[in-house]
Amino acid sequence: MLERQKEIIVEVGKYLFERGFTQLSGGNISLRDPETDLVAIKPSGAAYGLMKPEDIIVVDIDGNVMEGTLKPSIETGMHTGVYRNRPDINAVIHCHTPFVIAWSLKNEPYIPTVTVSQYVTNGAIKVAPLEGAGSQGLAKAAVDTLGADYAIGLKGHGLLACGPDMKWALEAALVTEDAAMIACICKAMGGETAFFDKELGEMEGFDALIRIADL
Ligand code: 13P
Ligand code: ZN
Repeated sequence: MLERQKEIIVEVGKYLFERGFTQLSGGNISLRDPETDLVAIKPSGAAYGLMKPEDIIVVDIDGNVMEGTLKPSIETGMHTGVYRNRPDINAVIHCHTPFVIAWSLKNEPYIPTVTVSQYVTNGAIKVAPLEGAGSQGLAKAAVDTLGADYAIGLKGHGLLACGPDMKWALEAALVTEDAAMIACICKAMGGETAFFDKELGEMEGFDALIRIADL
């Protein structure tokens, strides 16, 4: 089941691991098949460098295991919650990136973004309140905070990024950590981020559909 989706999860997991976006096994990645609503998701505790397509679990949209012998990610409820609430989303990435976590602990409601990245995240990046890892509270806070956006910070925990396909979700994850890094450096330098705190700026000629590929 979902053989191509399993391969993509393994490929993206290795990419994020090599970039320092995940540690040995932290974070999780999933893909929904829009035709069946089945979801392929990383097994709990799986190390990205060693994970194979046959390790990936298939669950239904309510999180019931349909295929696989390993335990699904403890954040399965957060991933399926996003899919149930957002029919436009087919890929979700959650990871523990240092700059998003650092900025989230400043207790500000947004991570400011610079203009180009705003179009990937749908504006400045909101931060969900602190909730326990793997809890229903975290799943609800993430879904509520995400709303119609493509990325959020999870206070003291990391980021959640999503999109209609994995390329979009990956770009949203990369841009979110970049935005948080820029914000942290800017604040450390005594700079001002207020202009980018909430607004979605103008960008001529931008077509979101051009960015959609098959990854
Ligand atoms: P899993 O290994 O169960 O996916 O959990 C990792 C994680 O990021 C918990 O928030
Ligand atoms: Zn996590």
